[in-house]
Amino acid sequence: EELYRISGWGDPYFSINAAGHVTVSPRGDRGGSLDLYELVKALKLRNLHLPLLIRFSDILQDRLERLNAVFAKAIARYNYNGIYRGVFPVKCNQQRHLIEDLVRFGAPHQFGLEAGSKPELMIALALLDTPEALLICNGYKDREYIQTAILARRMGQNTIIVLEQLEEVDYVIEECRRLGIRPVVGVRAKLSTKGIGRWGTSAGDRAKFGLTLPEILQAVEKLRAAEMLDCLQLLHYHIGSQISAISVIKNAIREASQIYVELAQLGAAMQYLDVGGGLGIDYDGSKTNFYASKNYSIQNYANDIVAEVKEACDERNLPAPTLISESGRAIAAHQSVLVFDILGTSDVTVEIPEPSDESEHLIIQNLYETYCSISVENYQEAFHDATQFKEEAVSLFGFGYLSLTERVRAERLYWACCASILAIVRQQDYVPDDLEDLEKIMASIYYANLSVFQSAPDTWAIDQLFPIMPIHRLDEEPTQRGTLADLTCDSDGKINQFIDLRDVKHILELHALKPLNASSAQSNSNASNHEPYYLGLFLGGAYQEIMGNLHNLFGATNAVHIQLTPKGGYRIEHVVKGDTMQAVLGYVQYDVEDLVENVRRKTEQALQERKITLDEAQQLLQNYEHSLSRYTYLSP
Ligand code: PLP
Repeated sequence: EELYRISGWGDPYFSINAAGHVTVSPRGDRGGSLDLYELVKALKLRNLHLPLLIRFSDILQDRLERLNAVFAKAIARYNYNGIYRGVFPVKCNQQRHLIEDLVRFGAPHQFGLEAGSKPELMIALALLDTPEALLICNGYKDREYIQTAILARRMGQNTIIVLEQLEEVDYVIEECRRLGIRPVVGVRAKLSTKGIGRWGTSAGDRAKFGLTLPEILQAVEKLRAAEMLDCLQLLHYHIGSQISAISVIKNAIREASQIYVELAQLGAAMQYLDVGGGLGIDYDGSKTNFYASKNYSIQNYANDIVAEVKEACDERNLPAPTLISESGRAIAAHQSVLVFDILGTSDVTVEIPEPSDESEHLIIQNLYETYCSISVENYQEAFHDATQFKEEAVSLFGFGYLSLTERVRAERLYWACCASILAIVRQQDYVPDDLEDLEKIMASIYYANLSVFQSAPDTWAIDQLFPIMPIHRLDEEPTQRGTLADLTCDSDGKINQFIDLRDVKHILELHALKPLNASSAQSNSNASNHEPYYLGLFLGGAYQEIMGNLHNLFGATNAVHIQLTPKGGYRIEHVVKGDTMQAVLGYVQYDVEDLVENVRRKTEQALQERKITLDEAQQLLQNYEHSLSRYTYLSP
């Protein structure tokens, strides 16, 4: 538990059971749990191969309930005279089954949706059917977007058009006149309160979206002139995602509350205050304002928003607005787990070296002496000596003064030195700066059956940290330290940053792969020569799926939706098969029939030239055609 900090980031959904497997409690504290390792085994028997994305609908529901519950509690605690009506930002995870679930789970709370683009508006308009729920229309808009949003009010959708650009005000006024329908309009303010961390530039005067205060005043005047100031009912802001410090959230709501009351004073019929997203996730479990964490609870978040808005409205004797939040990450991150297998490892070979004597090259004798001398007193110096001797050996080899065998001997001695030094370093409370990289240098590479670009793009794009850990063998001490390399032929296709207590570590504690014993090797029809070793990437349910790309043509992974049954078992609600090779080739405009025909023609040619036998040609064509209908990832 300590090693992977699961009780920090996993609570209340993920923990470790007595069998040493990860347990999932999809309903949080409300009972019912599943053994993740056993679940994966059962899914594999249904031909759902790894990498596999498992979505737990109950977690999604629990997150949504929690968000509503904290706002309800804060509203009661501060005697707030308004209500909370959240929306889910579709951009965070647009998968149909997930949005359908959200609409269903959200119905008792009149939970709505937020669209940030025209395609997302199409989703929201078709799927949202909760009578009082809101449909917040954000993002850049053209006339068609605005028309559609206004017309949708006729079919009972509570669309609110949030003005992000000054031209949109004119479009709205014109379309409202043309259609004879009065819309509900909001303005997105560029707050001066800046977010922090990765998405900090979402706010501030030079932010990409929203209106500056002078522009908001211009919008008010335009609407007033068009006799539409009664349509302006909402103020929105979004200061960035994953806000790790509560102070930033407080400053933003304080500033926004003042803008809200000023707008009401100017004559707008203000009713809604939309605080955007930003509610953070504790990816590393440290509960700090480190970027992978947050120093507040979800209850603190709701309390601060409710208290600040109430104070500002009370001071001006204004009715309290309906509070809207657009939390995406906080709702969707926990619900999915990506499980992937390890295909093999590459380890630094460390052997106890044979003694050296005067018959060997001086550089080898030096390395051997360094190796023999390593102690707690001199390990730092020994590291520098060993490194220098190794570099000299490489350069001597380059000039032809060292044979290949001698160079290999020198390298082995160097690794033996590093291993001895590392053993001492691990015992120390303080690690000197120059030895910090030793763990990294000595780490094994674990080859993972996944594409980082498809399944965890933010680890590559913005160095985001996700909790990653084995989902079984957790009753065994992990003896290895490794980094992960993915299947792509790209040196960026790796994960070498992992969560640590308020920090980043560059290795992950892992288990040595267990060789298959003779009997299981026989019964194992797969080519793998080790027992399966499964890792899970957790809290990746927000943004990763849609941002994932097809680098090297590794496609979407298999996905399943799992729901607990009242009797304590589970039901597979939906299976969404991952991309086949045929599908990914289609995305880049290949017609598989043409491809097969090309290969067939080539085999015919080779047959004519007697370069291939008929049997071989048949086999090749069969493999080719068969592969096209297969998963893009490796079969173990
Ligand atoms: N609302 C808007 C306007 C956004 O741009 C975003 C995403 O950055 C969100 C809501 C969701 O933010 P989060 O996932 O941090 O809750």
